[in-house]
Amino acid sequence: MANIMHALQNSRALEAVLSATAASQRWLATAPSPWSIARLLPGDSSGSPPVFLCPQCQSRLGSGNETYRRFAVCDYCGYHLVWSANARIEQLADRETFRTIGRLIQAVDFLRFVDELPYATRLKLEREKTGLNDAAIIGRCRIGQIDVVLALLDFHFMGGSMGSVVGEQITGAFEYALRHRLPVVTVVNTGGARMQEGTISLMQMPRTAAAVQRFHAAGLFYCSVLASPTTGGVWASFANLGDVILAEPKAIIGFAGPRVAEQVLGQRLPEGSYRSEMLLAAGMIDAIVPREELRPVVSWLLQAALSPASERRKGRPGQSQRAGRSLSTTVTEGLNSAWESVKLARHPNRPTATEYIRYLSPSFLELHGDRCYGDDPTMVTGLGRIDGRVVMFIGEQRRSEDRDGQPLITRPKPEGFRKAIRMMELARQLGCPVITFIDTIGADPGPESERHGIAWSLAHCLATMSDLPVPTIAAIIGEGASGGAVVLALADHVMMLQYAIYEVIAPESAATILYRDVLQTEQIAAQLKLTAADCLDLGIVETIIPEPASGAHSDPEMVMNALKVEVLDTLAELDHWPLKHLLQRRYRKFRGMGRVQRRSLKVIGARLVKLLAASSH
Ligand SMILES: [Zn+2]
Repeated sequence: MANIMHALQNSRALEAVLSATAASQRWLATAPSPWSIARLLPGDSSGSPPVFLCPQCQSRLGSGNETYRRFAVCDYCGYHLVWSANARIEQLADRETFRTIGRLIQAVDFLRFVDELPYATRLKLEREKTGLNDAAIIGRCRIGQIDVVLALLDFHFMGGSMGSVVGEQITGAFEYALRHRLPVVTVVNTGGARMQEGTISLMQMPRTAAAVQRFHAAGLFYCSVLASPTTGGVWASFANLGDVILAEPKAIIGFAGPRVAEQVLGQRLPEGSYRSEMLLAAGMIDAIVPREELRPVVSWLLQAALSPASERRKGRPGQSQRAGRSLSTTVTEGLNSAWESVKLARHPNRPTATEYIRYLSPSFLELHGDRCYGDDPTMVTGLGRIDGRVVMFIGEQRRSEDRDGQPLITRPKPEGFRKAIRMMELARQLGCPVITFIDTIGADPGPESERHGIAWSLAHCLATMSDLPVPTIAAIIGEGASGGAVVLALADHVMMLQYAIYEVIAPESAATILYRDVLQTEQIAAQLKLTAADCLDLGIVETIIPEPASGAHSDPEMVMNALKVEVLDTLAELDHWPLKHLLQRRYRKFRGMGRVQRRSLKVIGARLVKLLAASSH
């Protein structure tokens, strides 16, 4: 009985989804059409965009509006109009480099499907209206001088819906890219599956996803760009499998699409649901990129994806390590007391991870999200270049601001560490070094974080860092408290600022637990051996970066430059290690961290005698 009820409920839900999908497809058909597609239609030679009313701010847009004319974006409110695939090719590809690939194929009305029109008639009308063969265009081109496969879905052709032809072309695009070892960029603009092809249209989801998986298994790079709208089976298959996912501002993105969801749920949705901004905050996409900036950003990513393998420079073992050692010995003289270090490490004006990252790499491109639950602003991650070389940065951003601009000290959450893990995996795929910045009062201990797997994310951060087949460098720049710090410091080389601290527990907490007296904090700070000099002595860090006596904040430029020199020096040193040896070296280093001594046989013997005597009674 329960099963029957369940089946009935499901079928009702299914009906609701289907009728809602029909409604959304009608809406798709009436979505605003930009001038660019009209310009590409046969017989139109005027070349100037028609006057258009912005659907968002109602401003009149015409040829006098620069952004509207060039990008189909409202000059007044930034509203992104639906744009044709051909216009996007013009924008993204290097001039005259785009060549279509694959066989010339067209859709067949194999179900003899009839809605308001027979599918066969609809296809004919859509072809005439758009000048397109179907909703997808795939080809090979160059973007920023890099060879790439570019695949686009045009919303003007049956709402960019994915039927057999689109599935074939997208699959073909990834197979072609795999054969030629090229990266892929897709730009999708779609309502989802094409109902007129029934369950076969559903089968395009597994078909395309499997092709992307094969492509990924070869270590190739895929950048997915989402335009408004991107919904349904396309978003829930290949478009969601990008190594990096970019979306245009305020784009409607969702598995269901807002209208479908409202119909199924029977209620109005909260403002901003199913928009790119919500998805960014929920950790589902990497970045929101306005259309005007799409070409430079995609081009930057392609450069980053292609270059790391050729950037490993050959050096000589030990060469720069000696320089590092001498740096360490000079700064260990005249260090402050442990408690003074604690105060300097926590100084409110101390430079943060973001400041170091921006200093090292002015072209840093921040990537967001754990693709699972959220985007933690306490963990800043992304790709950058240091001295022209691509690196993945992962940094704990200890200090942020609340809505009123007040400084806020925050703790990284599970989603932050999951984001870090995702970026480490991306670095693994790209083959670029990872540089982490550690500055935290500790991982978030709240019940929400427990529910979302704080310990899982910490453990997996450790596991991932332990065998990451790229050079890894960790820099402890402020407070490195406990588990939330060490999980980013399982690196080939750990450097520490002169007045940073690295601790198993905050001295205040240790004093409360061990002495039940917070007044013992200063004394216990010294005992915990948390200063840079202590950590160097204990073999926990390799080098110390010098700071002015009054702390890094009194001369940030000097400290950042010293850190940059040390990072470059270390990268050069790590480069000469074959990856296999680098991993062995890393394993051995952490394998050896511990202090034990062999128990003397005399003691063990005495114990044994005592035990035997006791058992004989
Ligand atoms: Zn507008």
